[in-house]
This record gives sequence, C-alpha cells and structure tokens, in this order.
Amino acid sequence: MKIGILALQGDFEAHAAAIQRACGGCKTTEVRLARDLDGLDGLVIPGGESTTMLKLMDYYSLFDPLREFGRRKPVFGTCAGSILMATEVRNPAQRSLELLDMTVERNAYGRQLDSHVARITEHALGGEAEIEAVFIRAPIIRRVGEGGRVLAAYKGDAVLVEHGRHLTATFHPELSGDARVHRMFVEKVRHSS
Ligand code: GLN
Repeated sequence: MKIGILALQGDFEAHAAAIQRACGGCKTTEVRLARDLDGLDGLVIPGGESTTMLKLMDYYSLFDPLREFGRRKPVFGTCAGSILMATEVRNPAQRSLELLDMTVERNAYGRQLDSHVARITEHALGGEAEIEAVFIRAPIIRRVGEGGRVLAAYKGDAVLVEHGRHLTATFHPELSGDARVHRMFVEKVRHSS
C-alpha cells in the first residue's frame, strides 16, 4: 500500500515515520503536486497551520485534486489536518476540503502548548485504553455529523473521529511514538483499496 503525506508545511516527516511504525509493508511518499496523488491508496494531512496550508494548496493548484482524492480514498488529518477536513470551521471561519461532516473551532484550548493524556472510549483500540494525546494549539470539535463515530474524547470533547473511510484527530499521534492510531488508518486504507 502506498500512503501519501501532504508535505506543503507542518510535521509531515513525523507522519511518514509513524506510518512506517504502523505498517512495515507500506510505502510513504511526500505530496506537493497533484500528480503526486496518482496511485496512492490513502493520504495523511499533517498538523501545522491550516491557513498557511490553504494558501500553499492554492499556490500549487492542489485544493480541487485533494478534494477529489478524498471523495474516493481514505484521508487522515491531524490537528490542522482535521481543520482542513471539517465541513465547518470557526474562529475564524475558513474554507476547507469538506471531507468530514463536523464543526471545528480553531485554537480553542488557548494559545499555550498543552499536552495531556486522553482516554480512548471506543473498543476500536481493544477496549478502554489510554493514549498520550499531544495537543498543540488544537481545535475543539464542536459537532460531529450523522454517521461520524467518536473514538476518543478528552474532557467530554471528541478528539478522534472516524466517518466512513476517513479518520481525524485534533491531537498529534505522530509525536507520541505510539503507532495505534496510525494503525487504525492503515486498516482503513487496507479495507478500501
Ligand atoms: N492552530 C493551528 C491551525 O489553526 C493548528 C495547530 C496544529 O496543527 N498543531 O491551523
């Protein structure tokens, strides 16, 4: 399986390493141009700064190809990636790829770098399990649309959501050395390819 990592800005290298930890047989490739999407089975949109990423998507004519890709293949967005996937963005309102029906509020925990442990509340990871969830100027998911499943929550707010073939996290699983969340995405890619 070949998984692309959007490499316009942000911590894309950490995601490539995390995908390798989760799936020895997977190939990863950096995506900067529309043609880099050819032949991919899935795509990761990393954390970073969503407004900057949007500008770079426009500059590289990637916005429409990414939307089109997400209509066919699994996409996993973390933090800024989750903002870019949401159907509705607040604080301030912002354009997005609209791949996953949810409302997110940007920078909703305040400006500080904040790190804490979230409890996984879904059986998907093998029962109640704790994962370290690194939040960096993270958004809060204010609404999850019908059909979306909340896989983990922190202080009552969804932080890991799946909807069909897509997965999104408001934290940074690529930074904690724990491959379980990336493995969930790899399984989605496996089932849809
Ligand atoms: N605050 C950033 C944004 O609004 C996201 C931060 C992150 O990806 N760690 O785009």
